[in-house]
Amino acid sequence: MKDIYVTRASMPSLEEYVEEIKDIWDTHWMTNSGIKSLMLEEELKKLLQADQLSLFVNGHLALELLVQAMNLSGEVITTPYTFASTTHAIVRNNLTPVFCDIKPDDFTMDADKIEALITDKTTAILPVHVYGNVCEVEKIQKIADAYDLKVIYDAAHVFGVTYKGDSISKYGDASMYSFHATKVFNTIEGGCACYKDEKVGYKLEQLKNFGIQCQTVVDGVGANAKMNEFQAAMGLCNMKYLQKNIQHRQKIVELYNDLLGDVEGITLNKIQEDVQSNFSYYPIVVYPEYYGATRNQLANFLDEQGIHPRKYFYPITSSFDCYHNQFDPFQTPVALKMSKRVLTLPLYADLSLQDVERICQLIKQFGKSMRAGSSNKITIDNSI
Ligand SMILES: *Cc1c(COP(=O)(O)O)cnc(C)c1O
Repeated sequence: MKDIYVTRASMPSLEEYVEEIKDIWDTHWMTNSGIKSLMLEEELKKLLQADQLSLFVNGHLALELLVQAMNLSGEVITTPYTFASTTHAIVRNNLTPVFCDIKPDDFTMDADKIEALITDKTTAILPVHVYGNVCEVEKIQKIADAYDLKVIYDAAHVFGVTYKGDSISKYGDASMYSFHATKVFNTIEGGCACYKDEKVGYKLEQLKNFGIQCQTVVDGVGANAKMNEFQAAMGLCNMKYLQKNIQHRQKIVELYNDLLGDVEGITLNKIQEDVQSNFSYYPIVVYPEYYGATRNQLANFLDEQGIHPRKYFYPITSSFDCYHNQFDPFQTPVALKMSKRVLTLPLYADLSLQDVERICQLIKQFGKSMRAGSSNKITIDNSI
């Protein structure tokens, strides 16, 4: 049987892509704000309800340069339950991440724990919308207003997600989306930033092109982070299938929920009120004392069956080797606990429902047989 990975990139047919890139051979305009990227920018502005938006070569550089363009200093309150990119974007800007814990049901920042972390050095909050779940955007904004802090969202997981009927990009001072191959919508690699302040936009556009203002004036220490025309062309093709893909993802998620809802020792991702999810990931949390096996044992078992889920997010960023001894992972006990118990199951637009059934059956059977085996001793790992 074929191996099933946690994700599989959505692609248009080869013919469609070739058709889309053909005119690049007429113009020889391959990058630097060509027609494809301008068209994609317009489509994205509509979809994300964003007045101002900049495209990037990838999501990480959109975030890193967004942080730079905001002119922050000192400390940024963020979450360790995320991809490396979020924390690195802060640290690479010579700012200090201060880690706030998450909620165990939807994995986003626990807004009730933010205020205690604010010091006179705090200048921003950088929360992460996780797995298609949205943060407590209203509570976070209230705190930001009270303490005069900027809010930048890592929105890599929530492309197309709405809250109370509006695009989630409406919240905060800015949001970053990723269009990496593994995401719900991809431009091979790519990303964008949405922002409210025109001055931030001006700075961002400059920073993504070496800080060049015009041919003779370079007044920012910028990077090179422009999206090229081949990426934008992939985006234009994939955009046509976005709604269909999200609908199929929803079907998969509903089937998983049905089949795993009553498995002892496994909890599912919370369905949030007022949120239209994009069903980007399917995390389960394994409670070994009830399931009969640990997350790692389940992951190994599935691997042996040719099914390759991911421990996503594990480890939490505050315990990365590169940050050794700089942060205390035990300061965010919920994030630490979830990271050791979470397993993200396969979910992509062309995953078949039969495969979902097979995956669920294996998960059920494994727990059952492990619970029955009296010789099986579960050791609960209390380390990082
Ligand atoms: C994918 C991702 C990023 C980075 O995006 P790239 O486009 O791969 O650079 C940042 N944050 C989170 C949470 C992500 O999942």
